[in-house]
Parts: sequence; C-alpha cells; structure tokens
Amino acid sequence: MPELPDVEVFRQYMASTAFHKKISAATVFSKEMLESVSAPQLKKILEGQTLESGLRHGKYLFTETSNGPWLVLHFGMTGFLKYFKDPDHQPSHTRLLLDFANGYHLAYDCQRKLGMMSLTDAPGDFIRKSQLGPDALDPDLDVDQFEQMVKETTAIIKSTLMNQNRIAGIGNIYSDEMLFQAGIHPGARSQDLSKTEIKRLYGELKKVLQKAIEARADPNRFPDSFIIPHRRTDRVCPKCSGDIEKAKIAGRTAYFCPRCQQK
Ligand SMILES: [Zn+2]
Repeated sequence: MPELPDVEVFRQYMASTAFHKKISAATVFSKEMLESVSAPQLKKILEGQTLESGLRHGKYLFTETSNGPWLVLHFGMTGFLKYFKDPDHQPSHTRLLLDFANGYHLAYDCQRKLGMMSLTDAPGDFIRKSQLGPDALDPDLDVDQFEQMVKETTAIIKSTLMNQNRIAGIGNIYSDEMLFQAGIHPGARSQDLSKTEIKRLYGELKKVLQKAIEARADPNRFPDSFIIPHRRTDRVCPKCSGDIEKAKIAGRTAYFCPRCQQK
C-alpha cells in the first residue's frame, strides 16, 4: 500500500515527466472514485492546461494546474502513476488518463479503487477538511509535539502511528519498520512509553521515511538493517538473528522481533 515514501516518489515522478506539458484531453474511467467533483468538471479544469507544481501531504498528492485548482490523488492500496507514449503501455486499471500535446500520456492506475480523485482550490483547505494531522516529515513536527501526541492516547503505538488524523503518511509497513528500529513492541500502549523511547521513536520515524525515499521506496534497495526486506524472505531479524514474528495488531498484520522489541 502506498505510504508517504511511495507517494513522495510519485510526486517526483510526476514532476520529472508530466509537468509543464499541455494537456490535450483528460478522460475519467471510474467516476465512482471522484470526490466533490464531476467528470465533466474535472475534464474542463484540466484540458488545455498544464500541471505546474506538486505537493504531498501524508499519502495525498496535490498537483497545481495552470488554471488554479489542484488535482488531488490518493493511491489507496494499489495505486500508481505511469507516463508513457505507446497506447499499448496503458496500465489495465487506469482510472484517469491525461493525454499531452507532445503525444505522451499519464495514467493514474488504481486496481482496487480504494484511492480517490478530487479537486481543491487550496491544499490547506483540503487537509483541514479531511482532518489530517501534520505530515510525518514536516520539519515543524518537533519531538515535543510528537511526545504530546503519543502521551495523550491510550491506543497502542502501532495504531497511533497509523492514525492519519494524528500524523499523516504512515501505514502498516513503515510503522513496523520505525518500531523495529526503535526497539519498541508494536502492541505497546502509547501512554506507557517512556520519554527516552518516544524520543528514539521520533528519530527513527524521520530516519526510516527519509531512507525509504532515498531508496525510491523500493524494498529491494532498502538497507539490510531494515526489517521490511526480511519479513517475507528469511524471516530472520537483522539485529539479533532471531525469528521474526507475525501477529494481528491494530487490525493489521504486524511483523516484529520479540527479542529486540520487548513489551
Ligand atoms: Zn531481533
């Protein structure tokens, strides 16, 4: 499922492929994925215009059009972008297709339709209305604010990290990784964490997301010290060589090392 690092890679991809190119046609294939905008409205905003700049907040990608409004995309469980020339290369679950005057196309593909497409006049308004917390990589999100957020909830820590209303961008995969790096059990109560643990988790949260972006969100390029590449392969902890455990925590499948992450 695309989380903050994946969506950041999509933002960079869109900027390097589709920006500043005239859109000759926009086609919506899945109207049911539109929120607060109709297909004809979206078409009208996009056609004849260009995509000018991109902004990411949590798992949302905002793209400014030369017309003013911003296209909003969420990638759900399976979404991705593809820029291509040959129509045969159009991905099979394209939900929005932009044709450019230069003969290229940009497809927003979302097989399971758990993402969404929308328009907004200002990303800030959209973020407020959606009640999203600060972006996990926002430099203004400091350790004190993070500590306060963790301390005020009785929820388990994995669930707190994944709660988009508290902090935006983290999902199942990366919450496992930052908890592993910080040596904290995913099922620990947020309130019970010590100041030292919270500080360590804050540091690992930033580090893990940044390293994942540097690796272009590709698990094959992650450092061997990450638990992510070991989850489905050898199931061996890269720190202590013990067995990695799998359990349902916060309604999701969590992977952790019971030796390095004691409750
Ligand atoms: Zn271990």
